[in-house]
Amino acid sequence: MEFALTEEQQMIQDAAREFAQSVIVPVAAAYDDSGEFPAETISQAAELGFMGIEIPEEYGGSGLDTISYVLVMIEIAAADASHSTIVSVNNSLFGVPFLMFGTEEQKQTYLKPVASGQVNGAYALTEPQSGSDAHAMRCKAMLSEDGTHYTITGKKSWITSGPVAKYVIVFAQTFHPDGESKGISAFVVDADQDGFIRGKHEPKLGIRASATCEIELENFKCPVENRIGEEGQGFKIAMTVLDSGRIGVAAQAIGIAQAAYDAALEYSRERKAFGSAIGSFQSIQNKLADMRTRIEASRLLVMQAAWDKERSKQTGARITLAASMAKLYASETAMFVTHQALQIHGGMGYSKELPLERYFRDAKITEIYEGTSEILRMVIGRLETGLR
Ligand SMILES: Cc1cc2nc3c(=O)[nH]c(=O)nc-3n(C[C@H](O)[C@H](O)[C@H](O)COP(=O)(O)OP(=O)(O)OC[C@H]3O[C@@H](n4cnc5c(N)ncnc54)[C@H](O)[C@@H]3O)c2cc1C
Repeated sequence: MEFALTEEQQMIQDAAREFAQSVIVPVAAAYDDSGEFPAETISQAAELGFMGIEIPEEYGGSGLDTISYVLVMIEIAAADASHSTIVSVNNSLFGVPFLMFGTEEQKQTYLKPVASGQVNGAYALTEPQSGSDAHAMRCKAMLSEDGTHYTITGKKSWITSGPVAKYVIVFAQTFHPDGESKGISAFVVDADQDGFIRGKHEPKLGIRASATCEIELENFKCPVENRIGEEGQGFKIAMTVLDSGRIGVAAQAIGIAQAAYDAALEYSRERKAFGSAIGSFQSIQNKLADMRTRIEASRLLVMQAAWDKERSKQTGARITLAASMAKLYASETAMFVTHQALQIHGGMGYSKELPLERYFRDAKITEIYEGTSEILRMVIGRLETGLR
């Protein structure tokens, strides 16, 4: 078993850390405050190849491995979770469907500009009445009589990068002209085309600079060439993609937790109470011990999942169990660690002058999107027992 990073992985980690600390950290609080999409810093991330880390170079990406993706995500999230959300959607939720199920033409036309960071991508699975229960989606794609295109109609909600995306992967219930249902299919749509309507922006507790909105498709004409995979394969595509996405969210959670832990450790050495550094009190040391231990355990789980994913590129094996465990544990660790770190800072933890309250607000989303903790426990439990 080998725990050391390769020279290349080490270089990527250093480059991501340098970029995140020198470029993102100085602007993170202002973007959180305004809720504005950080277009400038995201285009700088694209120049470094971070918008398509695992995407092969011929499709506009950096052609690196999953461990490198995790390392970059941790560093960017440690600087600002909003930025890491935007990076994660482009890389995992938008990129993976094309890599695993897309045609050569789709990869050249849609993946390349997104992986190179020229434009943003988004992934639209959730609807107002269906989140965890994606099967209950109502968005409809009706095949035309001549079989050349689908007409898509429906509403999607909570779409990350929805307000800025050029291309969006949309999942819809598919029907043939005779009314026969073909199940859920996946499509790539161009947001500049007629029938694509961006709805209300979602006001949010955290990751405020990652733009999120509703999307409505109104008689949207989508050529059959824009279907990703086969008719009826959409649910499988959505779930397979979430396996990869969950590794990214787990890495994001570790980055947020690490930043909060580092701040708390430093504060515990400097802040004095009753004549001593608060870090000398056993109850504070106990908190730090639990925080550090959970972060390191999360790191091992996400590295295991990343390693499994790298191998799965050859074997095609699903990585649902490893990815679900990594996301479940890392996201709950991020909530635990940011809570404890805020407490260690006392009143200053509650102040907007320090980033602690932002870490605390940002951490919560990692327990919700791409599979809530309840759903992940259900997935893990079902895989373990073989029962439904
Ligand atoms: C900031 C943000 C960004 C997002 N970005 C995207 C995006 O880019 N694309 C996209 O498609 N979606 C996105 N989402 C949607 C997100 O994936 C869903 O919010 C999430 O899957 C939960 O769905 P829901 O909100 O409908 O909650 P529900 O499914 O209604 O769940 C409500 C509660 O019930 C629990 N629950 C539901 N079913 C069960 C069960 N069987 N057993 C036990 N408990 C259960 C849940 O765990 C949760 O606690 C985003 C959401 C947010 C908040």
